[in-house]
Amino acid sequence: MEKERDYYEILGVPRDADLKSIKDAYHRLAMKWHPDRNKAPDAEERFKEIAKAYAVLSNPEKRAQYDAHGFEGIAHFSEEDLFRGVNLGSLFGDLGFGFGAGGDSIFDRFFGSGIQRPRRGQSLRIDLELPLTHIAKGGKETVEYSRPVNCASCNGYGTRSGKPPDECKTCNGTGHIVKTRKTEEKKGHSFSFQQVSNCPNCHGRGRIAKERCKNCGGDGQIDKIEKLRIDIPPGIEDGMALRVPGHGLPGGPGRESGDLRVVVHTAPDARYQRRGADLWRAETIQITDAVLGTRLQVPTLDGEVRIKVPPGTQPNEILRLRGKGLPRFDRKGKGDINIRIQLQVPEKITPDEQKLFQQLRDLQQKKAGQRD
Ligand SMILES: [Zn+2]
Ligand SMILES: [Zn+2]
Repeated sequence: MEKERDYYEILGVPRDADLKSIKDAYHRLAMKWHPDRNKAPDAEERFKEIAKAYAVLSNPEKRAQYDAHGFEGIAHFSEEDLFRGVNLGSLFGDLGFGFGAGGDSIFDRFFGSGIQRPRRGQSLRIDLELPLTHIAKGGKETVEYSRPVNCASCNGYGTRSGKPPDECKTCNGTGHIVKTRKTEEKKGHSFSFQQVSNCPNCHGRGRIAKERCKNCGGDGQIDKIEKLRIDIPPGIEDGMALRVPGHGLPGGPGRESGDLRVVVHTAPDARYQRRGADLWRAETIQITDAVLGTRLQVPTLDGEVRIKVPPGTQPNEILRLRGKGLPRFDRKGKGDINIRIQLQVPEKITPDEQKLFQQLRDLQQKKAGQRD
């Protein structure tokens, strides 16, 4: 096995460097050697070395042990423990450089999927339907949902002791065992091959819990009802998601939970249809009202108002109540309430009405005749 290089040397910082210089050095080098960008054959090895040096030197406790005893001082940490609590990803996120999706796979590449990675939990999505009046005003809303959380009795390990389960002795914690076999061939040549199989003692987990946690039955997680107050921005668009950090799915022992994403929907409203900040409504009026003009009582978000329908209003004409809609989410001001006028043609009329309609038609024909 190759001898490990000194961590200060790897990051190119003096032994008394402060946290900021260590962070900056890591940042610069990790960008340079990230295997998704750097195609040199040793990029992955270099990147791993840099990440490890940073994981140790950015943690005061681990750094002190390394300073005092060198590699021996940190030898008792597993790779998982070394990276616990180290946020390698956020540095890349800041640069708009994909560590989030690609980052997980990089840890898979380095440490194998059998080893738990320093990763946050996944995000969890819930839907929240709000009535128009709430969307118009915005403000606090309570959401209630259920999610699994790390069990508090065992810190998520599922063990009765609340500590990580012991490493399996049969496979030394790897979860698999390797057998070397020799095959005898006819002409006297033999070759050996390796056979890898799941460890029968721990069933591939690498760890064995002696006694299970009574609170969670050994799962390490329990379901919890969460009640959260979240802030709704006035006029929030339909389908927009609000992010609540740390209230998603658990990331496993010692790791942060993912985010909760609350997707906001507009509840159906008998009065209006929503289109962005505008509200739409249809009003049906009689032909005579369209001809002569009338007044209508229409609902708005802050009470009913009377509006004027001018004489000669056409079918599908739109009457606009400016600024009576929802607050605009992305800019100042408010949308409108739009009222689409529809005409009602009477299906049944009385003899009197028929007489009047007939007279009206006669008049209109006479008028048309005079024009010709
Ligand atoms: Zn085992
Ligand atoms: Zn438990």
